[in-house]
Amino acid sequence: MTDQNRVIIVGAGHNGLVCAAYLARAGREVLVLEASNRVGGAAVTREFAPGFRVSACAHLSYLLDAAISRELGLSSHGLKHARENLRTVAVAGNGDHLVLDGGRLEAGRLPDKDRAALAEYHARMLRFARVLAQQHNRRPPRIAGGGRREVLAAAMLGLDVRRLGRNSMREFLRIAAINIFDVLEESFETPLLKGALGLDAVLGTSLGPRSNNSVLTLLHRMSGTAQGPAGRLSLPEGGMGAISEALAAAARAGGARIRTGCAVARITLDGARVSGVELEGGEMLSAGSVVSNADPARTLLGLLGARHLETGFVHRVRHIRSKGMAAKLHLALDALPEFTQLPAQFAGERLVIAPDLVYLEHAFDHAKYGHCSPEPALEITIPSVHDRTLAPAGKHVLSAVVQYAPFDPRASGDGPRRELLERALGVLERHAPGIRRLVVASELLLPADIEREFRITGGHWHHGELALDQFMMLRPVPGAAQYAMPVGGLYLCGAGCHPGGGVMGSAGRNAAKAVLATERAA
Ligand SMILES: Cc1cc2nc3c(=O)[nH]c(=O)nc-3n(C[C@H](O)[C@H](O)[C@H](O)COP(=O)(O)OP(=O)(O)OC[C@H]3O[C@@H](n4cnc5c(N)ncnc54)[C@H](O)[C@@H]3O)c2cc1C
Repeated sequence: MTDQNRVIIVGAGHNGLVCAAYLARAGREVLVLEASNRVGGAAVTREFAPGFRVSACAHLSYLLDAAISRELGLSSHGLKHARENLRTVAVAGNGDHLVLDGGRLEAGRLPDKDRAALAEYHARMLRFARVLAQQHNRRPPRIAGGGRREVLAAAMLGLDVRRLGRNSMREFLRIAAINIFDVLEESFETPLLKGALGLDAVLGTSLGPRSNNSVLTLLHRMSGTAQGPAGRLSLPEGGMGAISEALAAAARAGGARIRTGCAVARITLDGARVSGVELEGGEMLSAGSVVSNADPARTLLGLLGARHLETGFVHRVRHIRSKGMAAKLHLALDALPEFTQLPAQFAGERLVIAPDLVYLEHAFDHAKYGHCSPEPALEITIPSVHDRTLAPAGKHVLSAVVQYAPFDPRASGDGPRRELLERALGVLERHAPGIRRLVVASELLLPADIEREFRITGGHWHHGELALDQFMMLRPVPGAAQYAMPVGGLYLCGAGCHPGGGVMGSAGRNAAKAVLATERAA
Protein backbone atom coordinates (compact mmCIF):
# COMPACT_ATOMS: atom_id res chain seq x y z
CA MET A 1 0.00 0.00 0.00
CA THR A 2 1.28 3.50 -0.77
CA ASP A 3 -0.47 6.63 0.31
CA GLN A 4 1.32 9.87 -0.41
CA ASN A 5 -1.35 11.93 1.34
CA ARG A 6 -0.95 10.00 4.57
CA VAL A 7 1.19 11.39 7.36
CA ILE A 8 2.30 9.03 10.11
CA ILE A 9 3.13 10.59 13.45
CA VAL A 10 5.35 8.50 15.69
CA GLY A 11 4.31 9.18 19.26
CA ALA A 12 1.23 10.71 20.86
CA GLY A 13 3.03 13.03 23.25
CA HIS A 14 1.28 16.40 23.46
CA ASN A 15 3.43 17.75 20.59
CA GLY A 16 2.59 14.76 18.37
CA LEU A 17 -1.10 15.34 19.11
CA VAL A 18 -0.87 19.06 18.33
CA CYS A 19 0.88 18.26 15.05
CA ALA A 20 -1.78 15.64 14.24
CA ALA A 21 -4.61 18.07 14.96
CA TYR A 22 -3.22 20.79 12.67
CA LEU A 23 -2.40 18.39 9.84
CA ALA A 24 -5.80 16.72 10.05
CA ARG A 25 -7.51 20.11 9.96
CA ALA A 26 -5.49 20.89 6.83
CA GLY A 27 -7.01 17.84 5.18
CA ARG A 28 -4.19 15.33 5.54
CA GLU A 29 -4.87 11.72 6.38
CA VAL A 30 -3.16 11.44 9.75
CA LEU A 31 -2.30 8.29 11.65
CA VAL A 32 -0.70 8.62 15.09
CA LEU A 33 1.15 5.57 16.44
CA GLU A 34 1.88 5.55 20.16
CA ALA A 35 3.97 2.88 21.86
CA SER A 36 2.37 3.31 25.26
CA ASN A 37 -1.20 2.28 25.98
CA ARG A 38 -2.28 5.88 26.57
CA VAL A 39 -1.76 9.22 24.86
CA GLY A 40 0.22 12.13 26.29
CA GLY A 41 3.85 11.01 26.60
CA ALA A 42 5.29 12.94 29.55
CA ALA A 43 2.00 14.86 29.95
CA VAL A 44 -0.14 12.07 31.41
CA THR A 45 -2.15 11.24 34.48
CA ARG A 46 -1.92 7.72 35.80
CA GLU A 47 -2.81 5.71 38.87
CA PHE A 48 0.29 4.84 40.92
CA ALA A 49 -1.49 3.35 43.93
CA PRO A 50 -5.11 2.16 44.22
CA GLY A 51 -7.32 5.27 44.08
CA PHE A 52 -4.39 7.72 43.78
CA ARG A 53 -3.74 9.38 40.42
CA VAL A 54 -0.93 11.74 39.57
CA SER A 55 0.58 13.72 36.71
CA ALA A 56 3.41 11.29 36.12
CA CYS A 57 6.10 13.61 34.66
CA ALA A 58 4.98 17.17 33.98
CA HIS A 59 2.76 18.32 36.87
CA LEU A 60 2.21 22.03 36.28
CA SER A 61 0.92 23.84 33.22
CA TYR A 62 2.45 27.25 32.50
CA LEU A 63 3.78 27.05 28.97
CA LEU A 64 0.81 25.79 26.96
CA ASP A 65 0.48 28.13 24.01
CA ALA A 66 -2.72 30.19 24.33
CA ALA A 67 -3.23 30.36 20.55
CA ILE A 68 -3.03 26.56 20.26
CA SER A 69 -5.58 26.10 23.07
CA ARG A 70 -7.90 28.53 21.34
CA GLU A 71 -7.44 27.29 17.77
CA LEU A 72 -7.92 23.65 18.75
CA GLY A 73 -10.82 24.49 21.08
CA LEU A 74 -9.33 22.61 24.03
CA SER A 75 -11.96 23.81 26.46
CA SER A 76 -14.72 22.53 24.16
CA HIS A 77 -12.85 19.20 24.19
CA GLY A 78 -13.13 19.03 27.97
CA LEU A 79 -10.05 20.86 29.29
CA LYS A 80 -10.79 22.64 32.58
CA HIS A 81 -8.53 23.91 35.29
CA ALA A 82 -8.86 22.77 38.88
CA ARG A 83 -6.81 25.80 39.93
CA GLU A 84 -5.22 28.68 38.06
CA ASN A 85 -2.59 31.17 39.14
CA LEU A 86 -0.88 29.12 41.82
CA ARG A 87 1.45 31.04 44.07
CA THR A 88 5.01 29.90 44.67
CA VAL A 89 5.74 29.30 48.34
CA ALA A 90 9.40 29.07 49.38
CA VAL A 91 9.52 27.05 52.60
CA ALA A 92 12.42 26.83 55.02
CA GLY A 93 13.04 24.19 57.69
CA ASN A 94 12.70 26.77 60.51
CA GLY A 95 9.17 27.68 59.42
CA ASP A 96 10.05 30.83 57.48
CA HIS A 97 8.19 31.11 54.24
CA LEU A 98 7.69 33.52 51.37
CA VAL A 99 4.53 33.49 49.29
CA LEU A 100 5.25 34.90 45.85
CA ASP A 101 2.83 35.92 43.15
CA GLY A 102 5.19 36.73 40.29
CA GLY A 103 7.07 39.85 41.35
CA ARG A 104 4.89 40.48 44.40
CA LEU A 105 5.38 39.19 47.94
CA GLU A 106 1.99 38.08 49.22
CA ALA A 107 3.00 36.73 52.63
CA GLY A 108 6.18 36.29 54.63
CA ARG A 109 8.92 38.78 55.46
CA LEU A 110 11.38 40.48 53.15
CA PRO A 111 13.39 43.65 53.68
CA ASP A 112 11.96 46.63 51.75
CA LYS A 113 15.00 46.59 49.51
CA ASP A 114 14.31 43.00 48.42
CA ARG A 115 10.60 43.66 47.91
CA ALA A 116 11.36 46.48 45.51
CA ALA A 117 14.11 44.47 43.83
CA LEU A 118 11.73 41.52 43.37
CA ALA A 119 9.23 43.62 41.43
CA GLU A 120 12.02 45.08 39.29
CA TYR A 121 13.67 41.67 38.70
CA HIS A 122 10.40 40.02 37.71
CA ALA A 123 9.52 42.82 35.26
CA ARG A 124 13.05 42.78 33.79
CA MET A 125 13.11 38.99 33.30
CA LEU A 126 9.61 39.01 31.84
CA ARG A 127 10.71 41.63 29.31
CA PHE A 128 13.53 39.34 28.21
CA ALA A 129 11.37 36.20 28.32
CA ARG A 130 8.91 37.94 25.98
CA VAL A 131 11.61 37.99 23.31
CA LEU A 132 11.80 34.19 23.56
CA ALA A 133 8.01 33.87 23.62
CA GLN A 134 7.85 35.82 20.35
CA GLN A 135 9.97 33.11 18.73
CA HIS A 136 7.89 30.12 19.94
CA ASN A 137 5.64 29.92 16.94
CA ARG A 138 8.25 30.77 14.35
CA ARG A 139 10.47 28.39 12.44
CA PRO A 140 14.07 29.27 13.38
CA PRO A 141 15.94 30.89 10.49
CA ARG A 142 18.72 29.00 8.74
CA ILE A 143 22.15 30.23 9.74
CA ALA A 144 23.34 30.39 6.14
CA GLY A 145 21.76 30.17 2.70
CA GLY A 146 18.03 29.86 2.03
CA GLY A 147 17.55 33.25 0.39
CA ARG A 148 15.36 36.22 1.26
CA ARG A 149 12.95 34.38 3.55
CA GLU A 150 15.76 33.30 5.87
CA VAL A 151 17.28 36.77 5.93
CA LEU A 152 13.88 38.19 6.86
CA ALA A 153 13.38 35.62 9.63
CA ALA A 154 16.80 36.42 11.09
CA ALA A 155 16.03 40.14 10.81
CA MET A 156 12.77 39.66 12.77
CA LEU A 157 14.67 37.96 15.57
CA GLY A 158 17.23 40.77 15.61
CA LEU A 159 14.42 43.32 15.65
CA ASP A 160 12.74 41.68 18.64
CA VAL A 161 16.00 42.05 20.58
CA ARG A 162 16.51 45.64 19.33
CA ARG A 163 12.99 46.57 20.44
CA LEU A 164 14.08 46.02 24.03
CA GLY A 165 15.80 49.38 23.78
CA ARG A 166 19.46 50.14 24.29
CA ASN A 167 19.75 49.69 28.05
CA SER A 168 17.64 46.53 28.24
CA MET A 169 19.41 45.06 25.24
CA ARG A 170 22.76 45.65 26.90
CA GLU A 171 21.50 44.06 30.12
CA PHE A 172 20.01 41.12 28.20
CA LEU A 173 23.34 40.40 26.51
CA ARG A 174 25.24 40.86 29.79
CA ILE A 175 23.19 38.47 31.91
CA ALA A 176 22.81 35.89 29.15
CA ALA A 177 26.56 35.43 29.36
CA ILE A 178 26.77 35.04 33.16
CA ASN A 179 24.72 32.73 35.41
CA ILE A 180 21.67 32.92 37.63
CA PHE A 181 23.74 32.72 40.83
CA ASP A 182 25.53 35.98 39.98
CA VAL A 183 22.35 37.68 38.75
CA LEU A 184 20.51 36.84 41.98
CA GLU A 185 23.48 37.81 44.17
CA GLU A 186 23.54 41.20 42.45
CA SER A 187 19.83 41.72 43.02
CA PHE A 188 18.82 40.35 46.45
CA GLU A 189 19.91 39.82 50.05
CA THR A 190 17.45 37.22 51.37
CA PRO A 191 18.81 33.65 50.95
CA LEU A 192 15.34 31.99 50.88
CA LEU A 193 14.23 34.28 48.06
CA LYS A 194 17.41 33.68 46.06
CA GLY A 195 17.10 29.92 46.51
CA ALA A 196 13.49 29.86 45.26
CA LEU A 197 14.23 32.06 42.26
CA GLY A 198 17.39 30.07 41.48
CA LEU A 199 15.46 26.80 41.46
CA ASP A 200 13.26 28.14 38.65
CA ALA A 201 16.37 28.48 36.49
CA VAL A 202 17.67 24.94 36.97
CA LEU A 203 14.55 22.75 37.28
CA GLY A 204 14.64 20.00 34.67
CA THR A 205 18.12 20.95 33.46
CA SER A 206 21.59 19.54 34.03
CA LEU A 207 22.77 22.91 35.29
CA GLY A 208 23.60 24.28 38.69
CA PRO A 209 22.92 27.91 39.56
CA ARG A 210 26.55 28.77 38.77
CA SER A 211 26.45 27.10 35.34
CA ASN A 212 26.45 28.97 32.04
CA ASN A 213 23.07 28.99 30.32
CA SER A 214 21.14 29.09 33.61
CA VAL A 215 19.73 32.51 32.71
CA LEU A 216 18.57 31.18 29.35
CA THR A 217 16.75 28.26 30.99
CA LEU A 218 15.05 30.67 33.41
CA LEU A 219 13.89 32.82 30.50
CA HIS A 220 12.58 29.72 28.71
CA ARG A 221 10.57 28.82 31.80
CA MET A 222 9.27 32.37 32.10
CA SER A 223 8.40 32.60 28.41
CA GLY A 224 5.08 30.94 29.26
CA THR A 225 4.29 33.63 31.84
CA ALA A 226 5.27 36.25 29.25
CA GLN A 227 2.23 35.31 27.14
CA GLY A 228 -0.11 36.67 29.85
CA PRO A 229 -2.80 34.98 31.97
CA ALA A 230 -2.56 31.71 29.99
CA GLY A 231 0.98 31.30 31.27
CA ARG A 232 0.12 31.36 34.94
CA LEU A 233 0.96 28.24 36.90
CA SER A 234 -2.09 26.03 36.77
CA LEU A 235 -3.40 22.55 37.51
CA PRO A 236 -5.65 20.99 34.87
CA GLU A 237 -8.61 19.12 36.36
CA GLY A 238 -7.73 15.43 36.20
CA GLY A 239 -4.00 16.17 36.00
CA MET A 240 -1.77 17.00 33.02
CA GLY A 241 -3.20 14.03 31.13
CA ALA A 242 -6.34 16.14 30.69
CA ILE A 243 -4.40 18.44 28.32
CA SER A 244 -3.32 15.45 26.24
CA GLU A 245 -6.84 13.96 26.26
CA ALA A 246 -8.26 17.27 25.01
CA LEU A 247 -5.58 17.44 22.30
CA ALA A 248 -6.34 13.86 21.25
CA ALA A 249 -10.04 14.74 21.06
CA ALA A 250 -9.20 17.79 18.90
CA ALA A 251 -7.04 15.64 16.60
CA ARG A 252 -9.77 12.99 16.29
CA ALA A 253 -12.39 15.68 15.65
CA GLY A 254 -10.24 16.82 12.71
CA GLY A 255 -10.19 13.27 11.38
CA ALA A 256 -6.87 11.95 12.73
CA ARG A 257 -6.68 8.31 13.83
CA ILE A 258 -4.71 7.40 16.95
CA ARG A 259 -3.49 3.88 17.67
CA THR A 260 -2.01 3.23 21.12
CA GLY A 261 0.05 0.19 22.12
CA CYS A 262 1.78 0.49 18.72
CA ALA A 263 5.55 0.85 18.97
CA VAL A 264 7.33 1.84 15.78
CA ALA A 265 10.42 -0.33 15.26
CA ARG A 266 11.85 1.55 12.29
CA ILE A 267 11.21 4.23 9.73
CA THR A 268 11.29 2.73 6.24
CA LEU A 269 12.81 4.31 3.15
CA ASP A 270 12.26 4.10 -0.55
CA GLY A 271 15.53 5.37 -1.96
CA ALA A 272 16.32 8.68 -0.29
CA ARG A 273 12.73 9.29 0.91
CA VAL A 274 10.71 7.88 3.76
CA SER A 275 8.07 5.38 2.71
CA GLY A 276 6.44 4.66 6.08
CA VAL A 277 7.17 2.67 9.23
CA GLU A 278 7.44 -0.87 10.47
CA LEU A 279 5.81 -1.65 13.81
CA GLU A 280 7.46 -3.81 16.46
CA GLY A 281 5.08 -6.65 15.56
CA GLY A 282 6.25 -6.51 11.93
CA GLU A 283 3.26 -4.65 10.44
CA MET A 284 4.29 -2.29 7.63
CA LEU A 285 2.46 1.02 7.16
CA SER A 286 3.18 3.38 4.29
CA ALA A 287 3.01 7.16 4.22
CA GLY A 288 4.23 10.14 2.23
CA SER A 289 5.63 11.78 5.35
CA VAL A 290 6.66 10.60 8.80
CA VAL A 291 6.75 13.07 11.68
CA SER A 292 8.46 11.87 14.83
CA ASN A 293 7.50 13.06 18.29
CA ALA A 294 10.22 10.82 19.73
CA ASP A 295 13.43 12.62 20.72
CA PRO A 296 15.99 13.42 18.02
CA ALA A 297 18.55 10.74 18.98
CA ARG A 298 15.91 7.99 19.23
CA THR A 299 14.38 9.02 15.90
CA LEU A 300 17.51 9.53 13.86
CA LEU A 301 19.87 6.94 15.31
CA GLY A 302 17.32 4.39 16.51
CA LEU A 303 14.30 4.44 14.21
CA LEU A 304 15.96 5.68 11.01
CA GLY A 305 19.52 4.45 11.47
CA ALA A 306 22.85 6.26 11.21
CA ARG A 307 23.68 4.53 7.93
CA HIS A 308 21.08 6.66 6.15
CA LEU A 309 22.66 9.90 7.31
CA GLU A 310 25.80 11.81 6.52
CA THR A 311 28.67 11.13 8.97
CA GLY A 312 29.05 14.71 10.22
CA PHE A 313 25.32 14.90 10.92
CA VAL A 314 25.38 11.61 12.82
CA HIS A 315 28.27 12.90 14.89
CA ARG A 316 26.25 15.99 15.86
CA VAL A 317 23.19 13.92 16.79
CA ARG A 318 25.31 11.53 18.90
CA HIS A 319 26.59 14.51 20.85
CA ILE A 320 23.25 16.06 21.75
CA ARG A 321 23.42 16.46 25.53
CA SER A 322 20.29 14.78 26.86
CA LYS A 323 21.11 13.24 30.23
CA GLY A 324 18.26 14.09 32.57
CA MET A 325 18.84 15.18 36.17
CA ALA A 326 15.28 15.49 37.44
CA ALA A 327 13.55 12.61 39.22
CA LYS A 328 9.85 12.50 40.02
CA LEU A 329 8.37 11.59 43.40
CA HIS A 330 4.74 10.60 43.99
CA LEU A 331 3.29 10.07 47.45
CA ALA A 332 -0.16 8.77 48.36
CA LEU A 333 -0.97 10.45 51.69
CA ASP A 334 -3.49 9.57 54.38
CA ALA A 335 -4.08 13.26 55.13
CA LEU A 336 -2.87 16.71 54.16
CA PRO A 337 0.69 17.25 55.48
CA GLU A 338 1.44 20.30 57.61
CA PHE A 339 4.49 22.34 56.71
CA THR A 340 6.10 24.05 59.71
CA GLN A 341 4.30 27.32 60.47
CA LEU A 342 2.79 27.43 56.98
CA PRO A 343 -0.91 28.36 57.13
CA ALA A 344 -2.97 25.47 55.69
CA GLN A 345 -4.40 27.78 53.02
CA PHE A 346 -1.03 27.67 51.23
CA ALA A 347 -0.60 23.87 51.19
CA GLY A 348 -2.11 23.61 47.72
CA GLU A 349 0.22 26.18 46.15
CA ARG A 350 3.50 25.36 44.42
CA LEU A 351 5.91 24.70 47.29
CA VAL A 352 9.64 24.89 46.73
CA ILE A 353 12.46 23.66 48.93
CA ALA A 354 15.70 25.37 47.95
CA PRO A 355 16.57 27.39 51.05
CA ASP A 356 19.47 29.25 49.45
CA LEU A 357 21.72 29.29 46.41
CA VAL A 358 24.59 27.47 48.11
CA TYR A 359 22.22 24.61 49.04
CA LEU A 360 21.24 24.42 45.38
CA GLU A 361 24.82 24.53 44.13
CA HIS A 362 25.83 21.81 46.65
CA ALA A 363 22.89 19.68 45.50
CA PHE A 364 24.27 20.05 41.97
CA ASP A 365 27.91 19.35 42.97
CA HIS A 366 27.15 15.69 43.68
CA ALA A 367 25.25 15.31 40.44
CA LYS A 368 28.22 16.65 38.46
CA TYR A 369 30.13 13.55 39.53
CA GLY A 370 27.27 11.16 38.85
CA HIS A 371 25.71 10.96 42.34
CA CYS A 372 22.23 11.91 43.46
CA SER A 373 22.08 14.92 45.76
CA PRO A 374 22.16 13.92 49.44
CA GLU A 375 19.91 16.95 50.04
CA PRO A 376 17.91 17.47 46.86
CA ALA A 377 15.91 20.57 46.00
CA LEU A 378 12.18 19.97 45.52
CA GLU A 379 9.30 21.50 43.59
CA ILE A 380 6.13 20.18 45.23
CA THR A 381 2.45 20.25 44.35
CA ILE A 382 -0.44 18.67 46.24
CA PRO A 383 -3.02 18.86 43.43
CA SER A 384 -5.66 16.91 45.37
CA VAL A 385 -6.21 20.07 47.45
CA HIS A 386 -7.97 21.50 44.38
CA ASP A 387 -8.91 18.38 42.46
CA ARG A 388 -10.84 15.63 44.20
CA THR A 389 -10.61 13.35 41.12
CA LEU A 390 -7.04 12.46 42.08
CA ALA A 391 -7.35 10.84 45.51
CA PRO A 392 -10.00 9.13 47.68
CA ALA A 393 -12.01 11.45 49.96
CA GLY A 394 -9.90 12.90 52.75
CA LYS A 395 -6.64 11.59 51.24
CA HIS A 396 -4.05 13.44 49.17
CA VAL A 397 -1.51 12.98 46.48
CA LEU A 398 1.85 14.76 46.49
CA SER A 399 3.89 15.20 43.34
CA ALA A 400 7.45 16.53 43.46
CA VAL A 401 10.28 17.13 41.05
CA VAL A 402 13.46 16.00 42.79
CA GLN A 403 16.49 17.91 41.55
CA TYR A 404 19.25 16.44 41.13
CA ALA A 405 19.35 12.75 40.13
CA PRO A 406 21.77 12.22 37.25
CA PHE A 407 20.77 9.79 34.50
CA ASP A 408 22.37 6.42 35.12
CA PRO A 409 21.32 3.65 32.74
CA ARG A 410 22.63 1.04 35.21
CA ALA A 411 20.27 2.26 37.95
CA SER A 412 17.81 -0.53 37.24
CA GLY A 413 17.60 -2.21 40.65
CA ASP A 414 15.57 -0.82 43.52
CA GLY A 415 18.63 0.30 45.54
CA PRO A 416 19.26 3.73 43.94
CA ARG A 417 15.53 4.43 43.85
CA ARG A 418 15.09 3.58 47.56
CA GLU A 419 18.11 5.69 48.46
CA LEU A 420 16.86 8.82 46.70
CA LEU A 421 13.34 8.25 48.04
CA GLU A 422 14.80 8.17 51.59
CA ARG A 423 16.71 11.40 50.95
CA ALA A 424 13.70 13.18 49.47
CA LEU A 425 11.52 12.00 52.38
CA GLY A 426 14.22 13.21 54.79
CA VAL A 427 14.07 16.70 53.24
CA LEU A 428 10.27 16.65 53.32
CA GLU A 429 10.17 15.48 56.94
CA ARG A 430 12.36 18.42 58.01
CA HIS A 431 9.89 20.84 56.44
CA ALA A 432 6.66 18.98 57.17
CA PRO A 433 7.29 16.96 60.37
CA GLY A 434 5.17 13.80 60.47
CA ILE A 435 4.73 13.50 56.70
CA ARG A 436 6.42 10.08 56.68
CA ARG A 437 3.65 8.65 58.85
CA LEU A 438 1.08 9.81 56.28
CA VAL A 439 2.65 7.96 53.36
CA VAL A 440 0.52 4.98 52.30
CA ALA A 441 2.28 4.40 48.96
CA SER A 442 5.15 5.97 47.06
CA GLU A 443 6.76 5.96 43.66
CA LEU A 444 10.05 7.48 42.58
CA LEU A 445 10.98 7.72 38.92
CA LEU A 446 14.68 8.18 38.23
CA PRO A 447 15.71 9.58 34.83
CA ALA A 448 16.50 5.98 33.77
CA ASP A 449 12.90 5.00 34.67
CA ILE A 450 11.63 7.98 32.70
CA GLU A 451 13.72 6.84 29.73
CA ARG A 452 12.23 3.35 29.97
CA GLU A 453 8.62 4.26 30.64
CA PHE A 454 8.31 7.37 28.48
CA ARG A 455 10.90 6.44 25.81
CA ILE A 456 12.80 9.69 26.28
CA THR A 457 16.53 9.27 25.70
CA GLY A 458 18.33 10.10 28.96
CA GLY A 459 14.96 10.85 30.61
CA HIS A 460 15.55 14.53 29.87
CA TRP A 461 12.75 17.06 30.54
CA HIS A 462 13.55 18.88 27.25
CA HIS A 463 14.56 15.83 25.12
CA GLY A 464 17.97 17.57 25.05
CA GLU A 465 19.56 20.21 27.21
CA LEU A 466 18.47 23.79 26.58
CA ALA A 467 21.71 25.68 26.10
CA LEU A 468 22.95 28.23 23.60
CA ASP A 469 24.62 25.52 21.51
CA GLN A 470 21.34 23.53 21.40
CA PHE A 471 18.97 26.45 21.06
CA MET A 472 16.80 27.90 18.27
CA MET A 473 18.65 27.54 14.94
CA LEU A 474 21.03 25.06 16.58
CA ARG A 475 18.24 22.84 17.95
CA PRO A 476 18.39 19.87 17.89
CA VAL A 477 21.55 20.17 15.77
CA PRO A 478 22.78 22.64 13.17
CA GLY A 479 21.30 21.80 9.78
CA ALA A 480 18.06 20.32 11.19
CA ALA A 481 16.44 23.19 13.07
CA GLN A 482 13.58 23.69 10.62
CA TYR A 483 11.76 20.44 11.58
CA ALA A 484 12.60 18.77 8.23
CA MET A 485 15.38 16.20 8.53
CA PRO A 486 18.01 15.52 5.85
CA VAL A 487 15.96 12.53 4.61
CA GLY A 488 13.03 13.51 2.37
CA GLY A 489 9.62 13.31 4.07
CA LEU A 490 10.98 12.95 7.61
CA TYR A 491 10.27 15.58 10.27
CA LEU A 492 10.67 16.02 14.01
CA CYS A 493 7.92 17.61 16.12
CA GLY A 494 8.89 17.08 19.78
CA ALA A 495 10.56 18.91 22.64
CA GLY A 496 13.99 18.26 21.11
CA CYS A 497 13.17 20.86 18.44
CA HIS A 498 12.73 24.60 18.79
CA PRO A 499 11.39 26.00 21.12
CA GLY A 500 12.17 23.12 23.51
CA GLY A 501 10.51 21.24 26.30
CA GLY A 502 7.64 21.84 28.61
CA VAL A 503 4.01 21.31 27.77
CA MET A 504 3.62 24.09 25.22
CA GLY A 505 2.66 22.52 21.86
CA SER A 506 4.63 24.99 19.74
CA ALA A 507 7.06 22.41 18.33
CA GLY A 508 4.07 20.32 17.21
CA ARG A 509 2.38 23.23 15.49
CA ASN A 510 5.59 24.53 13.87
CA ALA A 511 6.33 21.03 12.55
CA ALA A 512 2.84 20.76 11.04
CA LYS A 513 3.42 24.08 9.28
CA ALA A 514 6.80 22.81 8.00
CA VAL A 515 5.15 19.66 6.53
CA LEU A 516 2.50 21.75 4.78
CA ALA A 517 5.04 24.31 3.51
CA THR A 518 7.27 21.57 2.06
CA GLU A 519 4.27 20.01 0.31
CA ARG A 520 3.27 23.37 -1.16
CA ALA A 521 6.80 23.99 -2.40
CA ALA A 522 7.04 20.53 -4.03
C1 LIG B 1 10.26 14.75 35.71
C2 LIG B 1 9.70 15.74 34.72
C3 LIG B 1 8.90 16.78 35.18
C4 LIG B 1 8.40 17.72 34.28
N1 LIG B 1 7.59 18.72 34.73
C5 LIG B 1 7.06 19.61 33.86
C6 LIG B 1 6.10 20.56 34.29
O1 LIG B 1 5.72 20.61 35.47
N2 LIG B 1 5.56 21.38 33.36
C7 LIG B 1 5.92 21.33 32.04
O2 LIG B 1 5.40 22.12 31.23
N3 LIG B 1 6.83 20.42 31.61
C8 LIG B 1 7.38 19.55 32.47
N4 LIG B 1 8.23 18.58 32.02
C9 LIG B 1 8.61 18.57 30.60
C10 LIG B 1 7.50 18.01 29.70
O3 LIG B 1 6.87 16.92 30.31
C11 LIG B 1 8.09 17.54 28.35
O4 LIG B 1 9.00 18.49 27.83
C12 LIG B 1 6.98 17.38 27.33
O5 LIG B 1 5.94 16.59 27.87
C13 LIG B 1 7.52 16.72 26.05
O6 LIG B 1 6.45 16.55 25.17
P1 LIG B 1 6.62 15.90 23.73
O7 LIG B 1 5.27 15.72 23.18
O8 LIG B 1 7.57 16.70 22.93
O9 LIG B 1 7.32 14.51 23.97
P2 LIG B 1 6.91 13.26 24.89
O10 LIG B 1 5.93 13.67 25.90
O11 LIG B 1 8.17 12.65 25.35
O12 LIG B 1 6.16 12.29 23.88
C14 LIG B 1 6.84 11.47 22.97
C15 LIG B 1 5.95 10.29 22.70
O13 LIG B 1 6.56 9.46 21.70
C16 LIG B 1 6.33 8.11 22.06
N5 LIG B 1 7.31 7.26 21.38
C17 LIG B 1 8.65 7.29 21.49
N6 LIG B 1 9.20 6.35 20.73
C18 LIG B 1 8.18 5.73 20.09
C19 LIG B 1 8.12 4.66 19.16
N7 LIG B 1 9.21 4.04 18.73
N8 LIG B 1 6.90 4.26 18.70
C20 LIG B 1 5.76 4.88 19.11
N9 LIG B 1 5.78 5.87 20.02
C21 LIG B 1 6.98 6.30 20.50
C22 LIG B 1 6.48 8.10 23.57
O14 LIG B 1 5.88 6.95 24.14
C23 LIG B 1 5.76 9.40 23.93
O15 LIG B 1 4.39 9.19 24.13
C24 LIG B 1 8.72 17.61 32.90
C25 LIG B 1 9.50 16.55 32.44
C26 LIG B 1 9.98 15.61 33.32
C27 LIG B 1 10.81 14.48 32.80
